[in-house]
Amino acid sequence: MKKIAILGGGYGGVAAAKTLHKIFKKDKDVEITLFDRNPFHTLMTELHEVAGGRTEPESVQVSLAKIFGGTRVDVKIETITDVKFGDKVLVGKEGQYAYDYLVMGPGAEPEYFGIPGAKDHSFSLWSYDDAVVLRRHIEDQFLKASREPNAARRRRELTFTVAGAGFTGMEMLGELLEWKGPLCHRFGIDEAEVSIVLVEAMTEILPILPKKLRENTMKFLAKKGAVIHLNTPITEVRADGITVKGGHVIESDTLIWTCGVRGCEFAGKLDFTGGKEHGKSSLNEEETNLKFNILKKCRLRSNEFMQSVEYDNVYVVGDVLWYSEKNRTLPQVVETALQTAECAAHNIAADIKGESKKPFKSNYHGFMVSVGSKFAVAHVMGMVLTGFMAMAMKHLVNFHYLWEVAGVNACWEYAQHHFFVVKNGRSQVGNQLANKTPTYWLLPIRVGLGAMWVVEVLEKVFKGWLDPAKGPVSSWMFSPGVVQAGWTPPEDAATAASEVAEEVAAGAEQGIDLLASMANPILPKDLFLVQWMQWFMDNVLANVNYVLLQYMVVGFEGAVALALLGGTFTWVAGVASLVLCLNFTLAGYFTWNTAWMILASVTVLGGAGRVLGLDAWIMPWLHRWWNGNGLAKKTYWYLGEPRRRK
Ligand code: NAD
Repeated sequence: MKKIAILGGGYGGVAAAKTLHKIFKKDKDVEITLFDRNPFHTLMTELHEVAGGRTEPESVQVSLAKIFGGTRVDVKIETITDVKFGDKVLVGKEGQYAYDYLVMGPGAEPEYFGIPGAKDHSFSLWSYDDAVVLRRHIEDQFLKASREPNAARRRRELTFTVAGAGFTGMEMLGELLEWKGPLCHRFGIDEAEVSIVLVEAMTEILPILPKKLRENTMKFLAKKGAVIHLNTPITEVRADGITVKGGHVIESDTLIWTCGVRGCEFAGKLDFTGGKEHGKSSLNEEETNLKFNILKKCRLRSNEFMQSVEYDNVYVVGDVLWYSEKNRTLPQVVETALQTAECAAHNIAADIKGESKKPFKSNYHGFMVSVGSKFAVAHVMGMVLTGFMAMAMKHLVNFHYLWEVAGVNACWEYAQHHFFVVKNGRSQVGNQLANKTPTYWLLPIRVGLGAMWVVEVLEKVFKGWLDPAKGPVSSWMFSPGVVQAGWTPPEDAATAASEVAEEVAAGAEQGIDLLASMANPILPKDLFLVQWMQWFMDNVLANVNYVLLQYMVVGFEGAVALALLGGTFTWVAGVASLVLCLNFTLAGYFTWNTAWMILASVTVLGGAGRVLGLDAWIMPWLHRWWNGNGLAKKTYWYLGEPRRRK
């Protein structure tokens, strides 16, 4: 039995665990355990959306139970406090855990560069908790300001300062600029009183992006009213303001510190020395200096196999890793985490199987930065994009990531948070996809549709469609003169049909063509699909026992009617109603008069059975049952969260 432990459920840890699961899915001799203090994986790249009130806190959480429910990865919610590398043991708050192989992915933490007051008097944006705390603080500041009669204090309360114009800072700045309006409206504050300030030490924002993108972003920020101070390093931070180089003071109750990150403190305290002290004295002088930096920055060094330089069975991935590829240290970005994790997982597998390891080779695709919900800049695969396209690219990349992590469920939830359930039009398409209709407005359409199917059933029964001697005549919902396949109409039926046709023609003669045309089939007879359906009816259905067929159709219609009226399995009934309608349309029976039934069948799919219907009880029960099902776990077709069994 080989035990592989993964420390950290971030981008690197999750990717390593998923890759290891894929490799060892059928190998019962390998045990994979992922340790994290949180029961969820945090979508770090979207934290600003939560902090800036755009999306709800749950939008950045993907539960580990969901990600690993259908896999061989065992998730352990535990805070690891130390690692005894010699004994191959993880020390946690609740116990000790032996391992044969360890993947270290504990992540990074904000870097304060020893600036006085920076850590104590600023908000960071590097964890779920950070985002939630900051969001609450921003709302509280508006509340406070709305009660504050003193103008100077009010100004300070309404001045929000972002330190650092890297990716995190710019994304947070964008959210503040966008949230300002709705917050002012909510708390009755004049927008002119609010200042959104950016302070950056260097002369440029977003230095790793091409010049054109930097310029476009600057223009956008100016348009939105951001106050930008470039070439302005912060030298001191206090609770009520900051001092910048040269002594100028910016009075502000809120400083959001996004001036870069280093490895996490936990990693810095571990028995990692950069290699030398453990007898692997392959380090030259340059590397020894590097070692100093590593320890200072709390990052752990690896070789090209992502194997720590001192412990062969320990692999390092993600933000905590220090590895130089062609003399360039890997950047602390998501792509690094994913690619180093995959490399580490493959090399652990190679070690277990006695195969040769593969060296790391990076393959970066680019960067995307959103500034609010509608503007973004992207430099991806050589393409330079601004605005709508850049934003679309960011969403696409997020969808791709989430598909890999937790399939359709995670993508659906992302779509909900970013397009379907948005506040104040804060989505790329504004409110266009977002306005929700309360379910009670769907009740009349559900009952109406059910009633029409009742009418159809009664008409067929009483007109004698089920009687082989009578057979089908025209129906209220069919175009005049149309009769069912497989039936040669007796004379009276044919006469009845032609009478209806004559009435329609007479109406047309009286100049009410439009009304008359409502009784025409929706699809013309010469349409390929209609002709194909006709062929199917003449050659296949015609050979089926007519009475049996009619009983089946009428029975089906009756079941749909009852389900709709009772609000029972309404979604299924809606689909069935739609199938019947489309079937009749293709057969050339359905007229424009009855087209509304097609539309109503779609409308009831939106949970119409949950108001005054049995679905109010059935659906939650069904959800619970399905979410505990193995198939849902394996395919990620959960409805919401998986069911956890004790
Ligand atoms: P960063 O290192 O990218 O940027 C920090 C900025 O703060 C720099 O521009 C720096 O000049 C400035 N700064 C430093 N000290 C300062 C001071 N005393 N006063 C004023 N300004 C100061 O940091 P980040 O934005 O926190 O990002 C951290 C890492 O996460 C980076 O590697 C980044 O690429 C990555 N990240 C990526 C994305 C994305 O891909 N969309 C999003 C967020 C973060």
